[in-house]
Amino acid sequence: MFNYTSVSDACIKCGKCVPVCTIHQVHPDETTSPRGFIDLLGAHERGELAIDKTAKDIFESCFLCTACTEVCPNSLPTDMVIEEVRKEIADQYGIAWYKRLFFFLLRHRRIMDIASKLGYVFRTCALSDNNQYGGMTPKFRLPIVKKDRLLPSMASTSILNSYDEELDHGGKGRVAIFIGCLANYNYTGIGHSLVKILKALEIDVFFAKEQKCCAAPAYFTGDFATVEALSKQNIAYFESFIDEVDAIIVPEATCSAMIKHDWEVFFRNRGMHDWAERAKRLNKKIFMATEWLANHTELPKLLEQKGASKELLVTYHDPCHARKVQGIWQEPRALLQTNYRFVEMSDPNRCCGFGGVTMQTEKFHLAEAAGKPKAAMIDESGADVVAAECSACRMQLSHALYKNQSKAVFKNPIELIAEALEDGDA
Ligand code: SF4
Ligand code: SF4
Repeated sequence: MFNYTSVSDACIKCGKCVPVCTIHQVHPDETTSPRGFIDLLGAHERGELAIDKTAKDIFESCFLCTACTEVCPNSLPTDMVIEEVRKEIADQYGIAWYKRLFFFLLRHRRIMDIASKLGYVFRTCALSDNNQYGGMTPKFRLPIVKKDRLLPSMASTSILNSYDEELDHGGKGRVAIFIGCLANYNYTGIGHSLVKILKALEIDVFFAKEQKCCAAPAYFTGDFATVEALSKQNIAYFESFIDEVDAIIVPEATCSAMIKHDWEVFFRNRGMHDWAERAKRLNKKIFMATEWLANHTELPKLLEQKGASKELLVTYHDPCHARKVQGIWQEPRALLQTNYRFVEMSDPNRCCGFGGVTMQTEKFHLAEAAGKPKAAMIDESGADVVAAECSACRMQLSHALYKNQSKAVFKNPIELIAEALEDGDA
């Protein structure tokens, strides 16, 4: 069992974490708060609390948003201890069949490619396209999915299968793209837009075809065997080309945070220090896409040349894994503000309520409750578009905007930047 004592002993019960906690905001109870989680885990360590069904339900209700870690005076990693106890839950109760199937597909990309293709071909049997909000709604109730749910769109060809491994754009640099599963199979406009931007900058692309899922969905669900397998394969693969690229860029906050932060934490917590060091060594060349484009390329200059004449009013939602985990929030704003009218919503740093696989399935009522206030504040801002560099946020917020029948729609900042570059009059 993971040792929770150091965290529970360090909690001074100040309560600063409680008002910012996403689950506490939608389920105001001391047990479902960071302070409550930590207290219960201390009791579990002392042998006073078994992981019964009630405890399982409580620990599975954390959104892993890290809002608590941002305000805690002792920097206590509540999200990390919840991730650890979910391993115990998975060992004790097993993992639901549909999650095991999902993680199996994440581990076997070729089979996932075929499943995704079949899903695309037969999608209209069960789903209707919703072009306004960029997704699909079920025609009838599906297993685990409510009828009025906006699901991510599907693509005929994944991004990794859409391009050659090497794209020669003129040789002003060379970057590898880590695309992430949702952007690879569902929100493919992000990858196409990223290629357009790199082409405009004359930067060559190495499409790292053997990349695997970053393992974030499995990590948040306690499937640590999958996390170990995927992260080790990715680390060994990244090491094989890291010296030949300027950077590995990731247009996804959750994947980027998993790669840069959680892989190392995961291996350290299991005593695999050699793997933790290897993950750490890669970090200096791994960047969120907007972070790298804003700080290491001529993109800001190029966007300035295009001018500020876009009519769209844009607001930016801060993905928890971008701002709270990686400190990335200025770069996407700076790039977007060059060409678009921009407005801040009242609390851009508030979690959208995605929460992971369990929250998006068994506990979707909690995710929906957390998404509502976010959609309301986007509406209040008057924005036409809400941007966030995260496809998990996109899935969650697109549903919330659809349910609210909002004027605003969701786009990744990479898509907006590519549009600004494309438009001669941008
Ligand atoms: S990670 Fe988010 S939901 Fe979980 S305890 Fe912390 S603030 Fe609450
Ligand atoms: S802010 Fe930190 S120290 Fe204070 S109650 Fe929350 S977890 Fe404990």
